[in-house]
Amino acid sequence: MGLLDDIKSEFSFFGGFTLTAKHLTRPRVTRRYPEEKKPKQPRQHGRHVLNRYEDGMEKCIGCELCAGVCPADCIYVRGLDNPPDHPVSPGERYGYVYEINYLRCIHCDMCVEACPTEAITESKMFEFSFTNRADAIYTKAELVVDDDGMPQKLPWEDWRPGEETMTGGWMRATAPAGNADFEGEVQWSADLGAGIRASEGGQSGHGDDAATGTKALRDVLESHLLTAEIPAEHKGMRGRIWRAKLNQERHKRQLASMKDRVAEMRAAKKAAK
Ligand code: SF4
Ligand code: SF4
Repeated sequence: MGLLDDIKSEFSFFGGFTLTAKHLTRPRVTRRYPEEKKPKQPRQHGRHVLNRYEDGMEKCIGCELCAGVCPADCIYVRGLDNPPDHPVSPGERYGYVYEINYLRCIHCDMCVEACPTEAITESKMFEFSFTNRADAIYTKAELVVDDDGMPQKLPWEDWRPGEETMTGGWMRATAPAGNADFEGEVQWSADLGAGIRASEGGQSGHGDDAATGTKALRDVLESHLLTAEIPAEHKGMRGRIWRAKLNQERHKRQLASMKDRVAEMRAAKKAAK
């Protein structure tokens, strides 16, 4: 064994640090969940919503197709004839009772596909929990969108920006038949508050944001995109600088929220004295 080999073997334990050193400059993949949520997948299936038309009428016509197709048998619908003077939906009937049991739902979205009027779609929010069986059954009053056309944000649910805006985005990707030639062509009715929702791109693989109107969605969900689809300014050294800036802003926000929390705790302690 030569001198060089002796030195190498003496300091070989430094080799163990190279992996650690490499990761020091890489972007962090862990997050402070639940304070900080990872952006949801573009086609995430979360808590359902019952949509309304732009004039405020409910889209559900009480046909029970969603209940019939549900493999987990967790939807209960009762239709009723619309009152002639005060119709709830544009159809002959409307969904008088609508319940989803979230102890059973497997978020397969077959109900969404079966619905003939796009009444039921899913948001991306799945952070909700219950302490008893009854709370796990969402009623129509909780599922139907509010007057802005957005899902109701119930006290026990943890909504973050972007989780409510693309409800049913995945099913709006193409024509109902799933033909990729129809990508970007709107094939559905307008929603209360949201109007015609943008279609989701990427079905045909060309990822043309301008044609498919999914730029905003892609910006939010970039961390999930294929490397080839990530803009050049977010790759390599430029990408590292961009991410470092983002991290710096995130740390500033975390520090500010920690300071607020400490101030709150101090104020509560003072008030208790
Ligand atoms: S997502 Fe699937 S399991 Fe859940 S209510 Fe719809 S059809 Fe049933
Ligand atoms: S949500 Fe759709 S499928 Fe279900 S009852 Fe209403 S209209 Fe029919």
